[in-house]
Amino acid sequence: MTTQEILEQIKAAKAATDTVILAHTYQPPEIVDAADITGDSFKLSAAVADLPNKRVVMCGVDFMAETVKILSPDKQVILASPDATCPMATQIDPMRVRAFKQANPNTAVCCYINTTAALKAECDICVTSSSAVKIVSALKEQEILFIPDQNLGRFVAENCPDKTVTVWDGYCPVHNQLTPEDILAIKAEHPHTPVAIHPECKPEVVALCDMAGSTADIIRFAKAQSGNVIIATERGVSEYLNLHEAGDKQYIQVCPHTLTCPDMKMTSLADLLAAVKGEGGKEMKLDETTRLNAKKAIDKMLAYGG
Ligand code: SF4
Repeated sequence: MTTQEILEQIKAAKAATDTVILAHTYQPPEIVDAADITGDSFKLSAAVADLPNKRVVMCGVDFMAETVKILSPDKQVILASPDATCPMATQIDPMRVRAFKQANPNTAVCCYINTTAALKAECDICVTSSSAVKIVSALKEQEILFIPDQNLGRFVAENCPDKTVTVWDGYCPVHNQLTPEDILAIKAEHPHTPVAIHPECKPEVVALCDMAGSTADIIRFAKAQSGNVIIATERGVSEYLNLHEAGDKQYIQVCPHTLTCPDMKMTSLADLLAAVKGEGGKEMKLDETTRLNAKKAIDKMLAYGG
């Protein structure tokens, strides 16, 4: 089948099965183009809750499809590429969080949205990379345990000097690889060009850049600049910007080979077609207690305006 034929079949199957397709910005460009809604993980999960469609196909990794299911329990939620996972989302055992909370009842346990439902269910509050600083600084608790990303946790600690933030030692294996030398080299090549970075990168790398924020924050910043912008996050973001928002400027990717998430690139158009038709992908199932406890952490984030 040609790409055009697959796209036409996806469109027909979508209508026949009452399905909406979500794609994270890190997905391959042809998947982003085939999706109904694109964005970062929380935007996708929240956007779908009020839609009338009975089925959702998520092109992303497993925790993202779980987050959709947490917020939309009555919909059938399918992860298009069944093996796509996020290594960071499982870097702490939920039972260790439970034990920590029992031993430290006055500490708020704050989890990044990039966690499994089982982990969210053990935490007090969930945050995104764009809301983490605002929410942690507004919490009534003085002591915070931030899980699982040590880099985002250290970014939060630096920006919330009134709080005592303990960070778990997890990390994103993609963003964590970026070094100060990588940033210095690209800045030397493109002097006076602003650099936007994701706070999943190490703090000493973030410190060399002009702004740090979530995928949505980076896209907003990049679009607002009058000239070229250097992008220091997963390469899907610069690909998206160059394809959809370039105009007469260029979005320059830092270390494109390093900043490629293999799990995010697993989805193919054939996977997507099979998932939409109900012949592939992985249906997300959550037990109701886990779902409701995980939802509490997300609802608390929303209550803090996250
Ligand atoms: S880029 Fe990092 S945090 Fe995002 S899905 Fe890949 S491994 Fe997980």
